Amino acid sequence: MFEKILIANRGEIAMRIQRACREMGIKTVAVYSQADAEAKYVKLADEAVCIGPAPSSKSYLNIPAIISAAEVTDAQAIHPGYGFLSENADFAERVEKSGFTFIGPRADTIRLMGDKVSAKEAMKKAGVPCVPGSDGALPNDPKKIIETAREISYPVIIKASGGGGGRGMRVVHTEAALLNSVSMTKNEAETAFGNPMVYMEKFLERPRHVEFQVLSDQHGNSIHLGNRDCSLQRRHQKVIEEAPAPGIPSRVSDKIAQRCADACKKINYRGAGTFEFLYENGKFFFIEMNTRLQVEHPVTELITGIDIVKEQIKIAYGEKLNYKQRHIEFKGHAIECRINAEDSFKFIPSPGLITRFHLPGGPGVRIDTHAYGGYTVPSHYDSMIGKLITFGISREDAIAKMQIALSEVFIDGINTNLDLHRDLLHDSAFKDGGMSIHYLEKKLGMKS
Ligand code: ADP
Repeated sequence: MFEKILIANRGEIAMRIQRACREMGIKTVAVYSQADAEAKYVKLADEAVCIGPAPSSKSYLNIPAIISAAEVTDAQAIHPGYGFLSENADFAERVEKSGFTFIGPRADTIRLMGDKVSAKEAMKKAGVPCVPGSDGALPNDPKKIIETAREISYPVIIKASGGGGGRGMRVVHTEAALLNSVSMTKNEAETAFGNPMVYMEKFLERPRHVEFQVLSDQHGNSIHLGNRDCSLQRRHQKVIEEAPAPGIPSRVSDKIAQRCADACKKINYRGAGTFEFLYENGKFFFIEMNTRLQVEHPVTELITGIDIVKEQIKIAYGEKLNYKQRHIEFKGHAIECRINAEDSFKFIPSPGLITRFHLPGGPGVRIDTHAYGGYTVPSHYDSMIGKLITFGISREDAIAKMQIALSEVFIDGINTNLDLHRDLLHDSAFKDGGMSIHYLEKKLGMKS
């Protein structure tokens, strides 16, 4: 096994990866920006290297600094976590060319899946159902664009091939607005992602977001770990996730899950990955693949008993998966609330000093966080400061445990979205399960 891994990330996920390494007897190297010098995972790591000032462009996205840190500490592998450089194919390539193992897929796979047009093409070929849409990127010819939209039928959504993080998308309801929307999305895509290529999809009006976790080793074995429902979103950011997705018959879900695992074999996938789908009227439509660990991976860990981070490390080292599909058992139900340093209903970020911090506990409660009383949440990064996850024998049980956990937790000094979670866990539509991706924004009175 690796003796030492460098964790190229921060916050709760740096802490999470460090825990997996320590359990496996692997030494860890933390890298940190000047803003994170006092962070818990930096102090707990075997070694720590400062890679630059607070702005992530100068630290967590600074490829040469991260590779030098791996060199000076003799780390053998680099775990990128999520966000930052985790889906940057050039980074994965530089890591491997410098003689380290990248804990994730090969650079060419990241590149293939990072471009949504090529990802959809690859998935269609692999027999994964996709959202009906244009055949690849939209051409320049206005007549062809109009024809394509008529064929798909309105409303349609124009999406940037290089898009991500919920940006670079525009819904079009009428032909009159079509061409203008296409050119605006192209311009934005060029500016934001350096790639003006856009494509068109049918805009599904009341879908759920349901995704599948896969694991694939380097010996041709791929399995799935079932699904997760992440429909509670605000501005395309997930707020609450759960596994399994409520109300979806297992024969429908299993069929798609198996297609995802088979697709991994076809594209020679390596590591952990997630296939994201929209689910509407009993049907699944692929939208994209994430070639990395997801924020919401703990809900899958709780219902399968599999440690996804440890699996990622073992796969990267070249080990064979220890499980066949038939060994994977799904038990109970898990829910995750993302705790953000932001106002519950105005969503204004609220960095600063946490004066008092009290976490819940008891059976079936898991907390992944790097925060503590006396910790200062820096203003430079994502506002998520932790995840509260509960596990129960049934969905009702997981909800009851979450309601109690949320009533026990308090965080003083900064604003958090805990009140939003408290509200949602008592919401009757949430309790019924199966809301669409627009539910939360409608409830909050936002235009979706
Ligand atoms: P990103 O990479 O930016 O997250 P995705 O393709 O995953 O982009 O889409 C993000 C979100 O946008 C989805 O979870 C869904 O809420 C919405 N969306 C994307 N495509 C469609 C579609 N065809 N119809 C309806 N909503 C969509």
